[in-house]
Amino acid sequence: MYFIDVILPIPLKQTFTYSVNKDEAAFLKQGFRVAVPFGKSKLYTAIVYQVHDTAPHGYETKSIDHILDEEAIITASQIKHWEWIASYYMCTLGEVVKAALPSAFLLESETIISLVKDKVVEDTSLRDEDFLVYEALQHRSPLNVDDVKSILDKKNVVLVLKRLLDIGVIEVQEEVYEQYSPKLKKYIKLAPAYEKEESLKELLDQLSRAPKQREVLMQLFMLQAQLKKPVGIDALLAKSNASASSVKSLVAKNILEEYYIRKDRINYEGEDATEVKTLSDSQETALQEIITSFKRHDVTLLHGVTSSGKTEVYVRLIEEQLKAGKQVLYMLPEIALTTQLISRLQQYFGAQVSVYHSKYSIHERVEVWNNVLAQKEKAQIIIGARSSLFLPFQNLGLIIVDEAHEPSFKQYNPSPRYHARDSAIVLASLHKAKTLLGSATPSLESFHNAELDKYGFVELKRRFGNVLLPSIELIDIKEKHKKKLMTGHFSDRLLEEIHETLNNNEQVILFQNRRGFSPIVECKTCGTSPQCPNCDVSLTYHQYKRQLRCHYCGYHMAMLVECNACGSDSIDSKGFGTEQIETELLSLFPKHSIARMDQDTTRGKHAYAKLIARLENEEIDILVGTQMIAKGLDFRNIGLVGVLNADNLLNFPDFRAHERSFQLLQQVAGRAGRTQKRGKVLIQTYNPHHTILKQVSVNDYRGMYKEQLEERYQYKYPPYYRTIRITFKDKNLTKNDQAALWYTLALQKQLGANVLGPEVPPVARVRNKYISNVLVKIPKPQSLAKTKEYINSVQRAFNLTKEFSSIRVSIDVDNY
Ligand code: ADP
Ligand code: ZN
Ligand code: ZN
Repeated sequence: MYFIDVILPIPLKQTFTYSVNKDEAAFLKQGFRVAVPFGKSKLYTAIVYQVHDTAPHGYETKSIDHILDEEAIITASQIKHWEWIASYYMCTLGEVVKAALPSAFLLESETIISLVKDKVVEDTSLRDEDFLVYEALQHRSPLNVDDVKSILDKKNVVLVLKRLLDIGVIEVQEEVYEQYSPKLKKYIKLAPAYEKEESLKELLDQLSRAPKQREVLMQLFMLQAQLKKPVGIDALLAKSNASASSVKSLVAKNILEEYYIRKDRINYEGEDATEVKTLSDSQETALQEIITSFKRHDVTLLHGVTSSGKTEVYVRLIEEQLKAGKQVLYMLPEIALTTQLISRLQQYFGAQVSVYHSKYSIHERVEVWNNVLAQKEKAQIIIGARSSLFLPFQNLGLIIVDEAHEPSFKQYNPSPRYHARDSAIVLASLHKAKTLLGSATPSLESFHNAELDKYGFVELKRRFGNVLLPSIELIDIKEKHKKKLMTGHFSDRLLEEIHETLNNNEQVILFQNRRGFSPIVECKTCGTSPQCPNCDVSLTYHQYKRQLRCHYCGYHMAMLVECNACGSDSIDSKGFGTEQIETELLSLFPKHSIARMDQDTTRGKHAYAKLIARLENEEIDILVGTQMIAKGLDFRNIGLVGVLNADNLLNFPDFRAHERSFQLLQQVAGRAGRTQKRGKVLIQTYNPHHTILKQVSVNDYRGMYKEQLEERYQYKYPPYYRTIRITFKDKNLTKNDQAALWYTLALQKQLGANVLGPEVPPVARVRNKYISNVLVKIPKPQSLAKTKEYINSVQRAFNLTKEFSSIRVSIDVDNY
């Protein structure tokens, strides 16, 4: 008897055992995909974990449905890495597999349920839950299992479905997902029978009576000689003026043969590689220091001010890896924001660059996956967002984590809630590769690690070309309001500088942290502001569509004409977003071209790239944007950056808010004056004496670091303590509170005062579910592994408590 243990892409802890025959056992290895039956009627794609001959105790194994691969598509080191992620971030291997594999690999049969026609059922004969499903199907048939789950608001709906199946109320259909199909290109060649010279001669003689066909052949030979590679049928038709019909008849006569070659979708269509730039002295020094640092450290932090030319240093390190035949992973926080970088790297490395991102089509992702696995030339350098670290690298030499301080490297939902920076370091160590973290404003955690000599540390203190860092001026808008020097949201200073910049033919970037028109709409008479019916937040006004929208669940309604509560028509907008700033600008600067960059204007696939191109081509004079404009963009002609209000950043209720404000403001400021002339930055605030703003204004990273570190120590936060946040969600507030309290008390039994909460977050209800949080703080000497083990044991006890069965618990390790 032979067995395989498989990983299923579902949130269940263990692997599952299936039986296989002798041949299958000999053929299968770790990393193969197999289709297996699961539950009543489901077919899943599973990943082989191991092949063995030990029968499991206590149950009969099912046999697999079929094998899906000719060879393993997942490597042993991937599995090791994923096991680390599962254990560190407290989730299941199945959840990691689900996040890691392009969904086309997880061919899965979705179970579809529909009502059986004309079946009469007595409503009263059904149990409550069964009736709910039955009723739902009468309104909308078919449903899939996920629909049923959300109707009943529970995870396990198998029993309900089984009962309905048994009494013949419903039937089940299987719908198999579309499978990956490579794009094929048609080629043409001479049939082998004519390859010998003699037979060819004979053929050409024969064809003298069919000059068109003869011509086609001659053109084919010429193309073959020219291209020295397979000749596509399109190319032949284009070259020879031949009609498709003469080609066809040659094929019909078995003189020519058609064949297909897989054509990869992702093709670099650019010029040949350009020369790399000569490094400046300080870049050269930094490069050498990094190389030296890697001798002693697996991880090195490159702290280089904005526009110091970090990218050029990366380029040298990449070159070196390619020479050694190694793969390089270049990670960025958000791929949408990196159009510029991709083209910069493609200029140097041409077709060796592949891009991997969850927004890419299923097909593109599968192709990159296969290319990386096969160590293809075109997949030597992978640029990707966080999910790229799941690719099947075979021979990884270096991982660059650019803008390494960015919080979006941490995945929040769904599980695995992994930090891509930290998971990258682990991935690199599995490959005995190096990791370079690059940032102008490193996270406190990384800088601390460098200080402790856990990471190597290299600095680039000057901008490339010795351009000065921008001058930063704080503007007290409380004062300006008092003196009536504000026009809308603009102080006289800011307006003055915008005018001057535009007069110098330079461009302006304005930063406003909120999108929409004005976050809050309020009735002047009774003070009521419209709320989202599903979440505990006020709706945001979007002028363009004249809508009120919820940024948490997407709920939207038409803008109110009168107050819902008192009927008054004096509805006022408080606060402000990018859209309102844009509107004000249009009337303040009617002769200039003004654009806006935020989530709402960058929805379409190319919208973002178009905006960037317009800014680069200086078609835009003033760009208003959210933090999207802060990241890694390199423009030549930005003379002024204005921050409309720094206070809503600083007042965010989170222990990282101050660090984050410093980073964002420095990054935004860094967009100004990147070439030759020193740029200017104006920051408007009600709070010009805030320490963080002072530190921002004099580029005092170290001052910020020291002070924030001191606070983290005082209040027991990272890097001194680790944190794990446990979140409870339920439709029923009382039940949710009880569950969170039960859990907290259980944790406190062992972990004492380091368990904080339960606490209600600022937005206490989202999508109709109440939220409660518990925070576990773990001091450095306390074993992390043991703490997690303990949390797991509390979780198991919790799962066994019936009254809590509807509560969704999620665990977030190193939460952001
Ligand atoms: P960072 O990533 O540190 O913000 P970049 O790598 O974007 O900085 O470099 C800033 C600007 O300086 C870019 O326009 C880049 O092309 C230019 N630059 C950097 N290094 C060099 C160099 N060695 N030679 C010429 N131009 C350079
Ligand atoms: Zn009112
Ligand atoms: Zn909502």
